[in-house]
Amino acid sequence: MITRRTLLTAAPALTLATGLLPGAGLAAPAALTADTRLLPRKGKGPRIVICGGGWGGLSAARHLRDRIPDADVIVLERNPFFWSCPMSNKWLIDVVDTQFLMHDMFAPARKYGYTLVQTEIIGIERDRKQVRTTQGTVDYDYLILAGGIRNAYDAWFGDDRATAEYTRQHFPSAYTPSSEHLALKNKLKDFKGGTIVMTLPPPPHRCPPSPYERACLMAWHIKVNKIPGKILILDPKPKIAPIGAGYKAAFEELYPDIITHVPNAKVKEVDPYNKRIMTEAGDFDFDDAVLMPPHQASDMVWHADLIAQTPEGKPTGWADMHPRLFTANSDDNVYIIGDSMGPIAESFGHYPKSGHVANVVARIAADNIAERVAGKEVVAQLPDNLCYMLVNGDPREAISVEFTYDLDAEGQVVQTQIDIDVRTPDLLAEDFVWLEGKFNDFLA
Ligand SMILES: Cc1cc2nc3c(=O)[nH]c(=O)nc-3n(C[C@H](O)[C@H](O)[C@H](O)COP(=O)(O)OP(=O)(O)OC[C@H]3O[C@@H](n4cnc5c(N)ncnc54)[C@H](O)[C@@H]3O)c2cc1C
Repeated sequence: MITRRTLLTAAPALTLATGLLPGAGLAAPAALTADTRLLPRKGKGPRIVICGGGWGGLSAARHLRDRIPDADVIVLERNPFFWSCPMSNKWLIDVVDTQFLMHDMFAPARKYGYTLVQTEIIGIERDRKQVRTTQGTVDYDYLILAGGIRNAYDAWFGDDRATAEYTRQHFPSAYTPSSEHLALKNKLKDFKGGTIVMTLPPPPHRCPPSPYERACLMAWHIKVNKIPGKILILDPKPKIAPIGAGYKAAFEELYPDIITHVPNAKVKEVDPYNKRIMTEAGDFDFDDAVLMPPHQASDMVWHADLIAQTPEGKPTGWADMHPRLFTANSDDNVYIIGDSMGPIAESFGHYPKSGHVANVVARIAADNIAERVAGKEVVAQLPDNLCYMLVNGDPREAISVEFTYDLDAEGQVVQTQIDIDVRTPDLLAEDFVWLEGKFNDFLA
């Protein structure tokens, strides 16, 4: 249902999209109704709508245009520019500059020939094959949900949205492409001393090794600037993982007086106003904090009613999907890619929620949709994963983790994990080569 509030927030967006400037002497844009169609169909090929223009969404758009040249590919994205979370920890201590992370999304859209619309997705009606946005509805033949994660503050605060918003603004998690990264960087620059608490989300969560990388690089800033500060990592897991030995060595050898890792510290309660956290490992006061609530599949997967349920009928928080084909179990015209994906195998759970996996699965989904459109057999493919984490600012040294996937005799996906725990400058050099390859794949 389109509410009055939706209409009010939608009106300025429509003005911008149609290029009608207020006061230009033209008629006011027509009021939005549930039947307002955003874009007429282009060409004879299938229309494939991609919700979310991050790592997964932009990769899918590029590869779909390659595989199905007559497809009408549309990306719906709320942000005005692409912001890369990979490398954003390194950006906190100026290893890369802002231009390195921030990209114009219209350039790849023009180059590869897809349509990019800056808009908020507010509903998905699968029975009508329509996506509702703040600018109107968009019809699809195939739908790809690539919205990343949502920060589930409700796990901490229930319906108390004011406290959730207070927490987000005062102690930003900076785990989605948003201005929270700028807030965190300013906070670090202004930090004069005291205890910073960092809560890690329970698994599965976005980029498992990256909170520890963030702790190392914030500690490095504290160390070189001789700030009387400490970082307390409140980790719900019993031990550091992945790259546990590499991180443990970095904490003990590089930041022994700054970083304390607290295992089994599952959050029970958060009081952001009094700067206090209650966990299963004890209660902690803080002067400042990076508060990461639990992660779940993005809101759009909930809008599409594609969240899996536990046997007791409770939402698992992640997509209900086929682990090899990436289609929704209840609707094979809908693909879920990237961090919103559900579990893959009982033995290891989820694929790592990484930009690498989002990019590779996006390409696989594009291949599979192209096979279906051409009436060919769909070939299930397996991804891989690779992550490099900087632990020292001078000399710049990184550690890394690699995951490979195979099928066992029963056809179940099995995971092999290789941690590289010895920190070296070479691994940072490899990180830059990796990122350049990815950016060239979907942004250049
Ligand atoms: C600090 C940090 C470091 C990381 N380092 C690495 C690394 O080194 N290597 C690696 O591989 N991965 C890394 N990652 C993980 C990586 O960023 C994510 O796994 C990846 O971005 C997932 O891609 P995605 O497409 O699923 O989500 P995203 O890239 O987050 O894209 C989702 C998009 O959907 C949009 N969206 C969501 N809801 C709506 C809506 N309702 N309407 C319109 N648009 C919407 C969002 O604005 C966003 O642009 C890191 C993450 C963080 C936070």
